[in-house]
Amino acid sequence: MPKRYLLALDQGTTSSRAIVFNADGEAVASAQKEFPQYFPESGWVEHDPNEIWSSQNAVAAEALGQAGLRGRDLAGVGITNQRETTIVWDRQTGKPVHRAIVWQDRRTADFCDKLKKSGKAKAILEKTGLVLDPYFSGTKVRWILDNVDGAREQAERGELCFGTVDSWLIWNLTGGEVHATDPSNASRTLLFNIHTGEWDDELLKWLGVPREMLPEVRPSSGDFGQCADFGGAAIAGVAGDQHAALFGQTCFKKGTAKNTYGTGCFLLQQTGEKPVTSKNNLLTTVAWQTKGRRRKYALEGSVFVGGAVIQWLRDGLRMIHTASESEPLAASVKDTGGVMLVPAFTGLGAPHWDPAARGTIVGLTRGTTAAHICRAALESIAFQSAELLEAMNADSGIPLKELRVDGGASNNDLLMQFQADLLGAPVIRPKNTETTALGAAYLAGLATGAFENEQAIEAQWQIDRTFEPQIKRDEAESKMALWRDAVKRAKGWPG
Ligand code: ADP
Repeated sequence: MPKRYLLALDQGTTSSRAIVFNADGEAVASAQKEFPQYFPESGWVEHDPNEIWSSQNAVAAEALGQAGLRGRDLAGVGITNQRETTIVWDRQTGKPVHRAIVWQDRRTADFCDKLKKSGKAKAILEKTGLVLDPYFSGTKVRWILDNVDGAREQAERGELCFGTVDSWLIWNLTGGEVHATDPSNASRTLLFNIHTGEWDDELLKWLGVPREMLPEVRPSSGDFGQCADFGGAAIAGVAGDQHAALFGQTCFKKGTAKNTYGTGCFLLQQTGEKPVTSKNNLLTTVAWQTKGRRRKYALEGSVFVGGAVIQWLRDGLRMIHTASESEPLAASVKDTGGVMLVPAFTGLGAPHWDPAARGTIVGLTRGTTAAHICRAALESIAFQSAELLEAMNADSGIPLKELRVDGGASNNDLLMQFQADLLGAPVIRPKNTETTALGAAYLAGLATGAFENEQAIEAQWQIDRTFEPQIKRDEAESKMALWRDAVKRAKGWPG
């Protein structure tokens, strides 16, 4: 019997998950395990790499057990992961020399400022597609080398390995045989030149990271070795979480885009085989690379407060008991009654970039009710996403034909309809919204022959619902204009 199953390992910021997919891309089993977060100082966030690995290994075994499968039934293993989180370990013993420094961690902000002052930001942006920010891995590696006794000397002697979470999992899955990453994860490190597809000596020099410790960059859909366990299954797909979601949404054509509506929103538009440099403060990133093909690129933007504004209605204002109650409450009024809510709780990101902005509700009248505010909160998620897509379209020069959606808040029909109305383009929600794990499975399946080509994957991707725009463009424009006006009032808050 041919091997018909794919195992996706989805290593996230708060939990490790494993999903077994059958040949039709349907999830047949899944397991999930949370692991501890460490906050040693204000602004610092760490994970224990051993807890990342043990939780991921345990859920993989659990999901396989649930499906009644053995490793030898697998056509391949795909890995998708929290991006940018940085791990350094000893090549001989496999022991981490420090806890993982998580993407959210801000400890390298001063060093980023120093690099900016030395005039390197522009060159770094050109080479990497990234803005100089503590978010990305490079300055975190440097911090570990500067703060762990003897680490820099060891790294220079080739005794240490650096990796993002994908590399760490590959290393452990293969019993220390393979030290590798893929271009999507590499493109989040500040060390990788997205134009040449290689680690860049100048970047390594500026960031103070020895080349000896870097993983080999292999195609996202390709060959990452065999598992020491799990029947020697081939690790054949690797991509960062947002990149895997873009692949799982089958955004294979230039110009296609997806938005993940979670706590925040992550928008990516696939822009083809040439990187597009943003004029609107978006990031340029490698989308993925499949075996024997050129790298595909994407523009990326994120909304800081997306579904989190609904959590705020629930936990802060106690207006609703569950997130899904936001939909009937918002639907109980025909519009927001002129209310606009800008959830700039932590400042505003692209395209505004104003850290001083704060949350604002404008347009209140004596007639305003909880339902109006709830509707305005939902609409704010769509407004922020629409602004990012406008910026993306301006950068890529490719008008959006449709938007594919996933994430918890994409289940809200009212929100999705409003999104389509604002964009003037259909919003498409697939049946399978586990797109991140699915993308990792697809990448692995494509490399091992479980899928013959991208068309075979597209053929099984199914639509749950399409939301067609229902309002005229000038009505959408006037809504966007009112939103921009509200944003102006949220900016530069002196408090
Ligand atoms: P994450 O992966 O970031 O934890 P999820 O994809 O699980 O996020 O989505 C959870 C977020 O989506 C929460 O912020 C929640 O408030 C929001 N959410 C979930 N369901 C709905 C819904 N039906 N309507 C609006 N928001 C929702």
